[in-house]
Amino acid sequence: VSDTWVVVDGQDEVGAALDALGAAGGAVTALVVGPQDLAEQVGRGVADVQWIDAGDTPTEAWADAAAGLGAAAAPAIVVGATTPGGRAILGAVATRMSAPLVSNVVAIRRHDDGVEADRLDLAGRITETVRTPTSVCLLVSASDTPAPTRDDTAPVTPVRAMPAAVARLKVEPAPGATSRITTAERVVAVGRGLGSKEALGMVEQLARALDAEIGCSMPVAEDLGWVPPERYVGLSGQHISPKLYLALGISGAPQHIAGIRNARTIVAVDIDPHAPFFKTADYGIVGDLHEVVPELIRALDET
Ligand SMILES: Cc1cc2nc3c(=O)[nH]c(=O)nc-3n(C[C@H](O)[C@H](O)[C@H](O)COP(=O)(O)OP(=O)(O)OC[C@H]3O[C@@H](n4cnc5c(N)ncnc54)[C@H](O)[C@@H]3O)c2cc1C
Repeated sequence: VSDTWVVVDGQDEVGAALDALGAAGGAVTALVVGPQDLAEQVGRGVADVQWIDAGDTPTEAWADAAAGLGAAAAPAIVVGATTPGGRAILGAVATRMSAPLVSNVVAIRRHDDGVEADRLDLAGRITETVRTPTSVCLLVSASDTPAPTRDDTAPVTPVRAMPAAVARLKVEPAPGATSRITTAERVVAVGRGLGSKEALGMVEQLARALDAEIGCSMPVAEDLGWVPPERYVGLSGQHISPKLYLALGISGAPQHIAGIRNARTIVAVDIDPHAPFFKTADYGIVGDLHEVVPELIRALDET
């Protein structure tokens, strides 16, 4: 058991946690709350696995048990992801260990006199660096960052634990939640610059040509209702890591950019040459999207 722990109750967490830990991780122990195949999969990226077989019981039921394990081992760093289960467990572990709990963390470093973390604040507008000489619990955003996978699996040690009395009654998709945006390799996203809902037709045509999912900025979903809310990207929306993110008429506010930090190639189309998005984008096209999008469709049709 090492003095850096990651707490995992789903597949999207271990990659994000190890990514934020970087070199600060060293040998990492994973505390997995979930099925055996998750424990074994996580074991291909860490030094050892402590495994609570959650069965059909929700993660929250194991928070007290996880807190007991944390308090007994007293690791210097405990990292979890901002999923409902991750929040519940880290909160309980931090309380039992009398450790500070820091959220929105994007990078972690070790120093001679403690652990330092960079975390986003003010809705992603600033990065704040905090340091503590004590053990610390850190929450990172869940993401599709792949976990490193070795061929061999680290030892998985089952942990016997008692769950709290919480039962899962049913699981069903939320209304309209059919979007594959979080797993898509390509995303074409629209902002207020689209001008009207009618213009979505050509964007859908472009998305089909690229085999892409449609995304959007927050106001397009929340204020204008042109695109379902589960498709908006950003700090308070989806955090996505596609290979291609094509932004059409999105200004590039920090709260939007916060959702695409892990995108591989970012292309922005904006009529304003000074749009902030051009500072982040790998490629920029200054132009009216109503002219650029049909041109892109035509070019893709020809290939
Ligand atoms: C706490 C908090 C959380 C937030 N969370 C999120 C979040 O998760 N996601 C998010 O997206 N936002 C979020 N926001 C809102 C964010 O700050 C911005 O207001 C929002 O992203 C702007 O949306 P937009 O880029 O679509 O619109 P605008 O800022 O209005 O930008 C429209 C862009 O379109 C361009 N344009 C106009 N016409 C055309 C044309 N014909 N062709 C090409 N370009 C054109 C304009 O030049 C402009 O750059 C949050 C804000 C707060 C305070």
